[in-house]
Amino acid sequence: MDPSRLGDAAHRGEEQPVVSFRGPLVDRFGRTHTDLRISVTDRCNLRCLYCMAAEGVEFRPHSAILSFEEIERFVRVAARLGIGKVRITGGDPLVRRGVLHLVEMLAALPEIRDLAMTTNAVLLEEYAHRLKAAGIHRLNISLDTLDRKRFEQITRRDELPRVLRGIEAACRAGFRQIKLNALAIRGRTEKEIVPLARFARDYGLELRFIEFMPLDAARQWRSDQVLPGHEILEILRENLGPIEAVVPDVPGAPASVYRFADGRGRVGVIATVTEPFCDQCGRLRLTAEGKLRNCLFATDEWDARPLLRDGGTDDEIAQLLLAAVGAKKKAHGTDTGEFAAPEQSMHQIGG
Ligand code: SAM
Ligand code: SF4
Repeated sequence: MDPSRLGDAAHRGEEQPVVSFRGPLVDRFGRTHTDLRISVTDRCNLRCLYCMAAEGVEFRPHSAILSFEEIERFVRVAARLGIGKVRITGGDPLVRRGVLHLVEMLAALPEIRDLAMTTNAVLLEEYAHRLKAAGIHRLNISLDTLDRKRFEQITRRDELPRVLRGIEAACRAGFRQIKLNALAIRGRTEKEIVPLARFARDYGLELRFIEFMPLDAARQWRSDQVLPGHEILEILRENLGPIEAVVPDVPGAPASVYRFADGRGRVGVIATVTEPFCDQCGRLRLTAEGKLRNCLFATDEWDARPLLRDGGTDDEIAQLLLAAVGAKKKAHGTDTGEFAAPEQSMHQIGG
């Protein structure tokens, strides 16, 4: 299949960039893609106000969602093109029935040296040990507050006690690494920063604050709601003492990471909006229904499902990956006046 014929932009008749590859999954700007985020469901047991609508969310029917065999095949092809890191996400990945089986299938692929999951931890108490046994190396757990009332306001569910038990279970399960992710919204998050940092330090977990992005279902994001990473760092310094920047463990990692001067713990900020790191981005995303995306904020998608379901060859799947990488833009452009947010919100794309 001719890569220039793939992708929604091509279907709309727009001019496609010249695809020129210097190696496996290297884009026009020299970025090598080694990291794939896979959403396994658009469903979730929380309704975070920055992600999903409170009521009436329409979910994809099961028949529209990729099967585990389809996902595994896609990953096998991607691994041949240099993908070595996979993160399973959603919606919440733990609400997908049988997800442990998918973990086992992906863990069995020798090229996948790093297999991670992002979860809200509501079901983690039940799953932590089994996820570790099935082959998950690293976990990211989302936690925005330690206050039960505020947790319920943010997530629209009274689940903080279960989440905290899930975090405890994860700490006992022996993962290579566990990080806590907190979403940073101006006017809400300032008072959470110090308690969350103390909690993370006590549990020996790395805490990262993620700037609020224009991917909310309600389309109510405004730039003045973004609590910039540098302000978060200032609040940490004022309350918990000096912090110093550390060299990232992995080149191209989205977080700027700091160590507390007393040696107890690390904290990071993912300043996607105020300090974009697009020049370092080597990530691709596969949505639950099999749409390949080259950026969180992309408005174009490459549909892998017909190839996976209706007799496409591995070569055709590889061409799809190459086409998506070849069309990747230099930057997401949320800071430009021309930015148009994608139709999908975070739970549909997979964060
Ligand atoms: N349900 C899981 C969870 O919450 O960890 C995994 C999926 S969730 C979409 C992944 C991450 O996306 C979460 O850490 C969440 O805070 C983040 N997220 C959701 N909506 C966002 C938004 N509008 N801007 C920035 N991050 C967002
Ligand atoms: Fe669910 Fe995660 Fe979205 Fe919250 S951020 S609604 S937990 S998918």
